[in-house]
Amino acid sequence: MPSTLEDFEVITTIGTGSYGTCKKIRRKKDGKVMVWKEMEYGSMTESEKQMLVSEVNLLRELRHQHIVRYYDRIIDRTQAIIYIIMEYCQGGDLASIISRNRKDGTHVSEDFAWKILIQATLALKECHRRKNGKAVLHRDLKPANVFLDADANVKLGDFGLARVLHHEHSLAQTYVGTPYYMSPELVNNQSYNEKSDIWSLGCMLYELCALAPPFTATNEGDLKKKIRIGQFPRLPTQYSLELDMIIRRMIQVEVSMRPSIDSILADSVVQRKQNSLN
Ligand code: ADP
Ligand code: MG
Repeated sequence: MPSTLEDFEVITTIGTGSYGTCKKIRRKKDGKVMVWKEMEYGSMTESEKQMLVSEVNLLRELRHQHIVRYYDRIIDRTQAIIYIIMEYCQGGDLASIISRNRKDGTHVSEDFAWKILIQATLALKECHRRKNGKAVLHRDLKPANVFLDADANVKLGDFGLARVLHHEHSLAQTYVGTPYYMSPELVNNQSYNEKSDIWSLGCMLYELCALAPPFTATNEGDLKKKIRIGQFPRLPTQYSLELDMIIRRMIQVEVSMRPSIDSILADSVVQRKQNSLN
């Protein structure tokens, strides 16, 4: 039987993002804590609504240890609101961890960075393998979309919902805010592919450790120039050369030189770290 709004009670509002509000909720029948994301679809066009539906259907299929679990959706037709019910990630998101460290003048540990690297890569592998052999590209890999559960394990979230609601292909709409993680192929108006997700993954891991993105500029034109050149500082010296190297390989201008998911996971250092996680 499909869920209804009455099956849940709202505990608190977590936050309002660009596309809706996230609330922490409790399922009445068993007390399970979850979240729902409320999105108004009243002002969407027919085709936007279609995309939203297909995106939600896709979410439903993605079941993986390191991907935010989707449970259900409720459509309130009188108010034109869709509620997307998901796993609650108690540990918050990486954006908050980055800004807290920046504020406190501290850094995440090397082990934590490797753990995020490995688990985010595993989540991406699942995305890229999906959809009848056709890859699902995340396209919006950024610290705010990487959540942590109660045990600080990665849960990749926010699949394409952003993209659905701003479905134009223009960069301005793909990226809300400064597109720090934009890959060189996007800068050059070439098409997005699996390796573009690897670039973003590298940028995100870099920022997690360095507390600043690899490429920064005060305007988009300068940012694009820097991305095309592809040079950026070494990670702060408390991080190992191995970590710097693997992240550096992900942030390579030449697409064919960038590692695939499988080659990241096959890397000997990654394998050693992965064994120590399990
Ligand atoms: P944004 O546009 O900022 O990504 P969201 O609607 O995705 O907005 O998220 C709003 C707030 O809710 C953010 O603080 C985000 O960290 C939090 N949030 C989103 N999804 C979850 C979740 N599954 N578990 C816990 N917190 C979440
Ligand atoms: Mg979000």
